[in-house]
Amino acid sequence: MNDYLVKALAFDGTIRAYAATTTGAVGEMQRRHYSWPTATAAIGRTMTATVMMGAMLKGDDKLTAKVDGGGPLGAIVTDADAHGHIRGYALNPQTHFDLNAQGKLDVRRAVGTDGMLTVVKDLGLRDMFTGQTPIVSGEIAEDFTQYFVVSEQVPSAVALGVLVNPDNTVKASGGFILQVMPGAEEETIAELEQRIGRMEPISKMIDRGLSPEEVLAEVLGTENVRVVDKMDVSFRCNCSKERFGTAIKSLGEAEILQMIEEDGQAEAECHFCLEKYVYSKEELEEFVDEIRAGS
Ligand SMILES: [Zn+2]
Repeated sequence: MNDYLVKALAFDGTIRAYAATTTGAVGEMQRRHYSWPTATAAIGRTMTATVMMGAMLKGDDKLTAKVDGGGPLGAIVTDADAHGHIRGYALNPQTHFDLNAQGKLDVRRAVGTDGMLTVVKDLGLRDMFTGQTPIVSGEIAEDFTQYFVVSEQVPSAVALGVLVNPDNTVKASGGFILQVMPGAEEETIAELEQRIGRMEPISKMIDRGLSPEEVLAEVLGTENVRVVDKMDVSFRCNCSKERFGTAIKSLGEAEILQMIEEDGQAEAECHFCLEKYVYSKEELEEFVDEIRAGS
């Protein structure tokens, strides 16, 4: 089954809900980066949160999340648009530890707890929004919960889960975000807290193969949820030889001439998808000509 996400309203529209399956998208990240299980869980949870946050945006808006907790994994960077496209990486994807005391992947140990979660939203027309909150747990879901409450003043519940097979591939991945809208009744919030308190762990729900709709029905109660939108989710990187070429050109004439002299070519690698782009001497000379011509 392909990955997708749903947006839903619950309790007469006073609760906004998002749920997503991201098994394929996180699986593609894992294959491209050869990430090890603890790293895969950390990056996958962050990708899942980010793609749901992307679904809160409109049109051509985009967002980037950076989880930098000072741990051995290094910073995780993910970004998403408003149409279910997601990509992500971490500095040291070959990071893995023994399971923690709860028998789960020790994401906190990989991520660290000394640092910041930063969210940058590109809302077009050079309109940027940046929010930043300290990493409070290193388990990712709690860190995004904290971000929503402190930085966006939206009381939220975030649950994220990634299961990895013995051969390091991704077995299942997904999660949900619930947000309390202004005007929500006290009883609604109390009921929500109760439901979350007694729900099965998200990783179990994902392992059972529940769809995003089924996850929300299970957490919120079938009778309370109304799905309002649905979109496919996939790993997609928008890098290209042309984009990296523009970046090389922006280094300026002197720098490019030095590349030609020292290496006879230039190579660029995309952090997100690990695609490599090679620029020949002739292509670099063309950049120099273009710079000289003022284009
Ligand atoms: Zn790329």
